[in-house]
Amino acid sequence: MNYFDDTIAAISTPVGQGGIGIVRLSGPDAVAITDRIFRSRKNEKPSSAPSHKMLYGHIVDPADERVVDEVLLAIMHAPNSYTREDVIEINCHGSIVSVRQILEIALRQGARIAEPGEFTKRAFLHGRIDLSQAEAVLDIINAKTEESMRIASEQLRGGLTEKLSAIREQLIEITAFIEAHIDFPEDEIETISKKEIAKKLADVSAEILRLSDTFNEARFFREGLSIAIVGRPNVGKSSLLNALLHKDRAIVTDLPGTTRDLIEDYLNINGLPIRIMDTAGIRSSDGIIEQEGIRRSIQAIEHADFIVAMFDGSEPFGQEDHDLLSIIRDKNAVMVISKADLPQKISLENSAAEGKQCVCLSAVSGEGIERLKSVIFESNLHGWKEEREGVVVTNIRHKAALDSAAESLNRANGLLSGNAPLELFSIEMRESLDSIGEITGTITTDEILQKIFSSFCIGK
Ligand code: GDP
Repeated sequence: MNYFDDTIAAISTPVGQGGIGIVRLSGPDAVAITDRIFRSRKNEKPSSAPSHKMLYGHIVDPADERVVDEVLLAIMHAPNSYTREDVIEINCHGSIVSVRQILEIALRQGARIAEPGEFTKRAFLHGRIDLSQAEAVLDIINAKTEESMRIASEQLRGGLTEKLSAIREQLIEITAFIEAHIDFPEDEIETISKKEIAKKLADVSAEILRLSDTFNEARFFREGLSIAIVGRPNVGKSSLLNALLHKDRAIVTDLPGTTRDLIEDYLNINGLPIRIMDTAGIRSSDGIIEQEGIRRSIQAIEHADFIVAMFDGSEPFGQEDHDLLSIIRDKNAVMVISKADLPQKISLENSAAEGKQCVCLSAVSGEGIERLKSVIFESNLHGWKEEREGVVVTNIRHKAALDSAAESLNRANGLLSGNAPLELFSIEMRESLDSIGEITGTITTDEILQKIFSSFCIGK
């Protein structure tokens, strides 16, 4: 089924200079529009070319036949395309002038500029992918490390979809069984089958919660683990950050020419993207600027997933260090004793007493840096080795829907044991199914779709 009668167009490659740029069109007029603006030496028309063929030629402005650029056209006929509509990709030279002119000509010929994520939204609405797979496309585009990419690719492949569909089947089976008894109330459900149903419900609910729990750790691969490095001035925070950044900057930023501003603050520790939060030293205050520093540090400590609390190993423990210790006492934190290359004035026993892991390191010699990275990884990803083999949930929207499905099931179980009318039980079961359907998009609203697709870039 075709939802749209208009044709969208957008520049699908990053705006800037590159070897090639791609202008993409999708919709019922994509081929006809391209017919009007494309010229090939052999007079081949996109409309008469077979699907998945490339044509070589030029884009011209039909108003005056002026040649705009030399191009290769990729032609993909519906339904064998990304959006399941007719799609044309115009590969031109990657200058901003070229892609922009071609886009403008396509728009003058009747295409409309695509909204962010609209190609993927069409792919979803035409049933090519489900909503969780559409979200995976965005996660792939935003992936910060290889591991983030692997998890998103698995979701796009349909790993989560398959798992949810197995859960759905079990729920439908239980619901159908109960509803058969609502239709034929004279067949009272025997106590024994009630017990069986209760057991099945508990099993599915546990399975849903297991999946939901993977979010606690898997989310870091999508969102990044936020870390605050705190300590009084001169303990060595900036030096540590530089030592960490030295070779572990998130992979994307290692590629010359890739956008840096978005991902610059990410480190890559064994595939885990780490976001370092901006902090200023914690220090007993007398000036306004210092108070602002303290405020920001405390705020960072409150919001960070993990805290690296630094103490200067070459200096005796001071009041400010004690203050920091008490602030981080109940937090997920590691203690770092810095400047291990200098004579040490802090003993490890001091810190071990706080019940936190402690790492002695030197930003100068590099000693202890690898150990700190292991501690960061292991303190936050306890069960990761086992989890990474299975399906995981990285998106809070999915987790919320799973939790809500499990809650409905628990309520259903309560109704069953309380001998409530079977209709009520059936309503809870349907709610649970709806929650699962929200993840894949079988149940959705314009508002949800708007929220999801508006975070895409234009052209995807
Ligand atoms: P921040 O104020 O906490 O960010 O501290 P900095 O990173 O700016 O470091 C303060 C001073 O300590 C600088 O002079 C650094 O060169 C020095 N420093 C930092 N780390 C080390 C280290 O591991 N060994 C030595 N010997 N000096 C260090």
